[in-house]
Amino acid sequence: MNKWTELVNFDQAPGDLYHPNSTPIYQTATFALESVTGGGKYDYTRSGNPTRSVLEAQLAKLEAGKYAFTFSSGMAALTALTGLLKTGENILVADDLYGGTYRLLTKRLQTHKGISVSFVDMTDLEAVKHSLLNKPKIVLLETPSNPLQKIADIAAIAELIHQHNALLAIDNSFMSPWLQQPLKLGADIVIHSATKHLSGHSDVSGGVIIVNDTKLAEELAFIQNAEGAALAPFDSWLILRGLKTLGLRIEREETNALKIIDYLKTKLEVEKIYYPLLEEHPGVAIHKKQATGGGSVICFIPKSVELAIAIVENTKLFKISVSFGGLTSSISLPNNMSHASIPENMRFVPDALVRLSIGIEDSNDLIDDLERVFTLFKQ
Ligand SMILES: *Cc1c(COP(=O)(O)O)cnc(C)c1O
Repeated sequence: MNKWTELVNFDQAPGDLYHPNSTPIYQTATFALESVTGGGKYDYTRSGNPTRSVLEAQLAKLEAGKYAFTFSSGMAALTALTGLLKTGENILVADDLYGGTYRLLTKRLQTHKGISVSFVDMTDLEAVKHSLLNKPKIVLLETPSNPLQKIADIAAIAELIHQHNALLAIDNSFMSPWLQQPLKLGADIVIHSATKHLSGHSDVSGGVIIVNDTKLAEELAFIQNAEGAALAPFDSWLILRGLKTLGLRIEREETNALKIIDYLKTKLEVEKIYYPLLEEHPGVAIHKKQATGGGSVICFIPKSVELAIAIVENTKLFKISVSFGGLTSSISLPNNMSHASIPENMRFVPDALVRLSIGIEDSNDLIDDLERVFTLFKQ
């Protein structure tokens, strides 16, 4: 089936007597068993719930995986991923991860669990190779990274680290499976903050881990049940509903983003633009090899921090918000906002970097909003 059909045409209610065209919300914590020894597919919602199962099956399919496990947030999914590690083991991660992931790794894993964390520039294969001396069990990265949109070569890193028996985990929140499917490129594990593109409506938090390997799936199912951060039925339903328009949203957002980039290129006040499809992007060839689009996030550096703050605070259609992947456009200064949990000496994001997450509005309205602010603060 074509992916457009797959998004909406699937078994919405396996086994349901009434064949509803939308998945019922099984808002129950417990299920009656057939006997003292069990029987029945479900017994307790922490361990499994039919609404969550439909979502997990759909997410696995979209990421070309066999198994998916959903959690109450992206961070809960990442925490479950790190549950695969034991004290004394090493995780090798990109040096420009999402701020919350950085915080989890340094202030929980390193300090409380005795797991060593190594950082490396994932665009530098020689450096990655050198870091393998630490014998990482898991290698974790985001590509494009956020907000600098650095591109790591998923297939090349997978091949390299598999020789050392490490697992490659890709946080694919930025692209979504619509634009990039890391399992097909050789990754072992895909993670998403479903709060972003998968739900797409900025109305629910969620996270997911997708894998193909049965043993890994068994371990993740155990962690999901043992630690208790599985996604709730109603939240599963909201993400299922959002997911049906994933393609429409992402393609519309990207069309808008490309128009806004063309506009920003005409502004003398803009010194640099970050977007993975730009010809001058050092990773553009690799990105085009592994993804089918550039996504909906644009970053740019205006010529001063003052101008950056003025732009963020004076645009009207762009709401000042962390996060991305919602229907409405938003704007942020990552160094002050989403990446504030990274200590100052580890910050790599220029202070003046403005991040735009482009929504589904009319692109001319968005451009008019930016143009008004550039005119207002013309120096
Ligand atoms: C937002 C985000 C997370 C965290 O997800 P939450 O749903 O906010 O917990 C993790 N990784 C990336 C790349 C993100 O953008």
